[in-house]
Amino acid sequence: MTKLYFGRALCCALCFLTLSILNLPVAQAAGEVNVYSYRQPYLIEPLFKAFTKTSGVKVNVIFASKGLIERMAAEGVNSPADVLLTVDVGLLTSAVAKGVAQSLKSSVIEKNIPAAYRDPEGQWFGLTRRARVIYASKARVKQDRITYEELADPKWKGKICIRSGQHVYNVALIASMIAHQGEAKTKEWLKGLKANLARKPSGNDRAQVKGVYSGECDLAVGNTYYMAKMMLNDKQPEQKKWAASVKMLFPNTMARGVHVNISGMVLAKHAPNKENAIKLMEFLSGDKAQKIYASVNHEYPVKDGVPWSDLVKSWGDFKADSISLEEVAKYRKRASELVDEVGFNDGPGSS
Ligand code: FE
Repeated sequence: MTKLYFGRALCCALCFLTLSILNLPVAQAAGEVNVYSYRQPYLIEPLFKAFTKTSGVKVNVIFASKGLIERMAAEGVNSPADVLLTVDVGLLTSAVAKGVAQSLKSSVIEKNIPAAYRDPEGQWFGLTRRARVIYASKARVKQDRITYEELADPKWKGKICIRSGQHVYNVALIASMIAHQGEAKTKEWLKGLKANLARKPSGNDRAQVKGVYSGECDLAVGNTYYMAKMMLNDKQPEQKKWAASVKMLFPNTMARGVHVNISGMVLAKHAPNKENAIKLMEFLSGDKAQKIYASVNHEYPVKDGVPWSDLVKSWGDFKADSISLEEVAKYRKRASELVDEVGFNDGPGSS
């Protein structure tokens, strides 16, 4: 009995020691905040620089294109992460589902971020908006208006390029269709869209615009900021030609509005520097950071009244779908299943 007790005590002491050692570098460091970011360094670093300048808080960042949420879940209570930055409402809600988020009530953030772009429980917050639009061939597409529904019209047979139906951007778009039109109509629409594809879905959003440029398709589905990334791409100047070959059509502007997704942030469940994390999150929702987001990545700020970049402004104003992204996110799982059910990624001509 004694031996067992001692054994247990020793084990607990060792566990405690291990936890303490793991926590040492972050929990005891004052004036720091640790960020796990799916967003790229060139975009995030100007924001952190501005934050450190105003707050004095040092920002440590780990960048990765995938696996950060899983890493936070695996690290559990020992996770050094304070804040997670990511794109897409799907990843934000998945952070919540995987138990790595905690809810935050901040009157500053609630004032800055409209309700449609944040979780009612405060477990995630949008920081920027991006519209999912249609890139149409200037030479071959006469019309200047379009709807998502129209993408299933047989008149576009063999003329549409789109990336994988399972990509988070498309899953969110399809989920928004379910939210508005119901599941049965969305499934028919997906079948129609699949029949109109020029090729099997593959590549990223920019590869679809390249498809329009090369004449493979007339319409491509993509996010707005890629227009800027192509137009200003000095490293790959051929992308400027892709951009010059298309015009952007903002679907459904005459009715419910364009499907808009977000990039956003989450307060980590076990944030060791919670106070600084909240400071950073409030900063990111404020005017200064919102302006940086808008100018560096040519996204739309979530905060009302923050000016868009001149380039973004040149694409014109548009009406955004006002449905809450929390509502859209509810249909993500079903949307992903529908993609498989209609064999969307098998491309046109498959059944
Ligand atoms: Fe993107």
